[in-house]
Amino acid sequence: MKRNLILEHRIAGSTCVLACLRDSALQCWARSSRGRRRSQPKTFVALALFSVIPLLGGCPRKELPPGDKPVSISVSSPSPSPAPIPTSFNGERALTHVKQQLEFGPRPPDTPELVKTRNYIVNELKSYGLTVSTDEFVANTPQGRKKMANIIAEIPGESSNVIIIASHYDTKFFKDLHFVGANDPGASVGTLLEIARVAASSSTKPKSTYRFVFFDGEEAFCEGWDDCGTPENPDHTYGSRQYAQELVDRHQAQNVQALILLDMMGYTKLELGRDTMSSRWLQNIIWQTGRELGYTKIFVDRPEGVGGDDHEPFLRAGIDSVDLIQLNDYSYWHTPEDTLDKISAESMKIVGETVLASLPRIAAHPSAGTRPSAAQ
Ligand SMILES: [Zn+2]
Repeated sequence: MKRNLILEHRIAGSTCVLACLRDSALQCWARSSRGRRRSQPKTFVALALFSVIPLLGGCPRKELPPGDKPVSISVSSPSPSPAPIPTSFNGERALTHVKQQLEFGPRPPDTPELVKTRNYIVNELKSYGLTVSTDEFVANTPQGRKKMANIIAEIPGESSNVIIIASHYDTKFFKDLHFVGANDPGASVGTLLEIARVAASSSTKPKSTYRFVFFDGEEAFCEGWDDCGTPENPDHTYGSRQYAQELVDRHQAQNVQALILLDMMGYTKLELGRDTMSSRWLQNIIWQTGRELGYTKIFVDRPEGVGGDDHEPFLRAGIDSVDLIQLNDYSYWHTPEDTLDKISAESMKIVGETVLASLPRIAAHPSAGTRPSAAQ
């Protein structure tokens, strides 16, 4: 899906430790995770379910070069009892959604196969009782003008605050390669649909509005993430840039407490490192929630450098965002081998349950929605 960062963590050990203690975890993380970008395709590359989820706090550890000691950083715990969501995520249902997408074949933007995928997603969301809309637009790409459409569905909350949960639904265009994208993005689409179904089935109105957004055109048309395009009109993230800009133009960005992006999180050998661009408080809640659910080996503290994804336009718009992604050790990334046998219902369930349990905690967190709006 995207390029990778070489994770060169040139952390000046003690300096960073002190800085971490002094500053916020996010600031330190940003300093420590600067890496050198390169385009290098392929190299990177339960305990029982609770119907009531307990509260949490967070305590991240940074991955340091050999010889450096990990640093624990305390983060504030969300306060009192957010409304629980029953976690009845069905991994098999999510897997069925993936199978259906793969039956459509490769699904690049502005193809009949992606239209079929879009219709499938829309019909599923409607069947959960959600109001669904599509936001159609035309994007200028290296292959000319392409018709694209984001899909949006919403569960109204008690307040005007919004939490967006998102995935892209296009597959990368390849001229001479049959790429079906079971993990990229089949698994995240299937998981997002199942999250929407479970959330829609709750009898309790959520505190914040939950919005499910499926982005068109995340993938670059050219082979590499930065091979084509310009800084003003890059060859990737067409749908997410369109949607984030709409939020800004409509003065709605300030109502968005968080964006949770799912992307490549269905691998049978699931392990999620911490995306280095993500908002730390948000990531902490999700990591801590996953661990409380027993997924300590899934939500790990090593950094995951992805170099760019659909959360980037939201971060630029001043919206705190997190990317749940396993890129660097998924060797089937952007290959014909990104097929159904590489993903599992269990992996999707782990992520789905964790996201569902995290939502009320995010809504109640004091950091939610406090990020000053960035340059627009
Ligand atoms: Zn991709």
